[in-house]
Amino acid sequence: MSQSMQAGFPIREQVTSFIEGRYTRLAGHELPVVFPGDARRISTLVEAPADEVDAAVRSARAAFEDGRWRRQPVEARQAVMRKVADLVDQHRDELAYLECMNSGIPMRHLQKGQIPRTAYNFRFFAEFLGQHAEKLHGQTDGYLTLVLREPVGVAALIGPWNAPLALTSMKIAGAIAFGNSCVCKPSEVTPLAVARFMELLVEAGVPPGVVNLVNGRGGVTGEALVAHPQVDLVSFTGGTQTARRISASAGEGLKPLSLELGGKSANIVFESADLDRAVDAALVGIFSNNGQQCLAGSRILVQRTVLERFVEAFAQRARKLRIGSPLDPATEIGPLAFQAHRQRVAGYVDIARADGAQLLCGGAPVEALEPGFYFQPTAVLARDNTARVCREEIFGPFATIVPFDTQDEAYAIANDSEFGLVSYVWSDHQPTVMRALSEIRAGMVWINTPMTRDLRAPFGGIKASGYGREGGESSMKFYTFEKTVMLPTVPPSIPRMGI
Ligand code: NDP
Repeated sequence: MSQSMQAGFPIREQVTSFIEGRYTRLAGHELPVVFPGDARRISTLVEAPADEVDAAVRSARAAFEDGRWRRQPVEARQAVMRKVADLVDQHRDELAYLECMNSGIPMRHLQKGQIPRTAYNFRFFAEFLGQHAEKLHGQTDGYLTLVLREPVGVAALIGPWNAPLALTSMKIAGAIAFGNSCVCKPSEVTPLAVARFMELLVEAGVPPGVVNLVNGRGGVTGEALVAHPQVDLVSFTGGTQTARRISASAGEGLKPLSLELGGKSANIVFESADLDRAVDAALVGIFSNNGQQCLAGSRILVQRTVLERFVEAFAQRARKLRIGSPLDPATEIGPLAFQAHRQRVAGYVDIARADGAQLLCGGAPVEALEPGFYFQPTAVLARDNTARVCREEIFGPFATIVPFDTQDEAYAIANDSEFGLVSYVWSDHQPTVMRALSEIRAGMVWINTPMTRDLRAPFGGIKASGYGREGGESSMKFYTFEKTVMLPTVPPSIPRMGI
């Protein structure tokens, strides 16, 4: 496959499927892969139609059935997974570059955050695997009852475009640690880094066929993958509407499903908060990763007594954020991932105005950086929580600030949402913090801290933010099934029938 060199790292001219340890050479429907920083086409994605998806699933199935991976000793699988992590570290700049070139996520964020996270995903699950013990019950007289955990089979792993490698690698690490095989389907917008990662997996010693890749549009490649009869379970991270379609298809096949979906998360700033820190964290919470993150604190609820101070500081700092090429290490905000997405984000400025919201800063594309898909960091002050910008996930650098008076009101607003992914609370008053813990209905609550994750702990949402959890034991439960074995300690007496 020919490649073009860009900034020292090669970008494949065509991104095809990766099956049985090799890129395929299929000709088919082509989609452009674009650098959002200047709208330049940098590669071409060749879409996998249903028969290629079938080949990928069969490859994963064969690898699972012949046990080339799952029957390897735990120590051997751990060693390979650690090697994957080492290779990711060695290729950090290249993977960051590929991810940056098709997602627009700033390099500094990738090099310090998402790519090291990819390595950590593999190290974590390698260690987890070595620690986990199966269960034994000795209470039934004359028996030992063993509860074994076995891999489910072939996993379909479908990821979004806002953190392609970090999220897909977490799914792969969780799936293969316990002996499953898998087929990954990244977003058609961001195939580059995940494709390169496939080669590193093979180089590290993951046997060909254990991890396969298909690329293409969700409605074509993704649907064929979820519906494939030899796929045993589906892990999906993406939007709520897509999740509804996937649930219907997976439900038809009675396939276990894990759904990590969107959010409209409340970031609650009480008057008892350290306001400087709350402003710092609110900016990070909505503007990091170009505002395209499920965990974004996109509804900032501020107690009216400190509203003016908060709004002034927040808007002033938002105006000063450094917008520019995601390749520039100084850039804080890069372009949005694709043109249609920027149009959608921009559309919310008019929607906010129509609902009576006040524009505090931003609200327009960055003309000086056209034809890149840049959008100014934007904040609006909503009249109340009924505004559409309070209810819909915008998934861009767009903060909605909502005032409140009392604690009761704050929790009522925070919970008045279709979503329930995460929440943030800012207060130095302990009773307020303790009450927040019990009042907030979301899968995760951060107190006086910006987002941070512990891979040992379950992560996931409620309501339209999905169901299922990822993280140490939660991933193990999803990617394995329990097999109960009754083992008699002495030969049990057997009633003699038919004598
Ligand atoms: P989408 O739901 O549009 O797409 C997610 C993935 O599903 C993509 O690979 C997409 O392919 C694929 N897909 C689309 N339709 C189907 C289908 N019918 N069958 C199978 N696969 C399909 O989400 P986005 O990519 O736009 O990602 C943004 C969303 O992801 C936001 O809502 C965000 O909140 C959420 N998200 C949630 C996270 C969490 O952990 N809770 C983390 C990160 C993001 P293609 O793009 O090629 O069409």
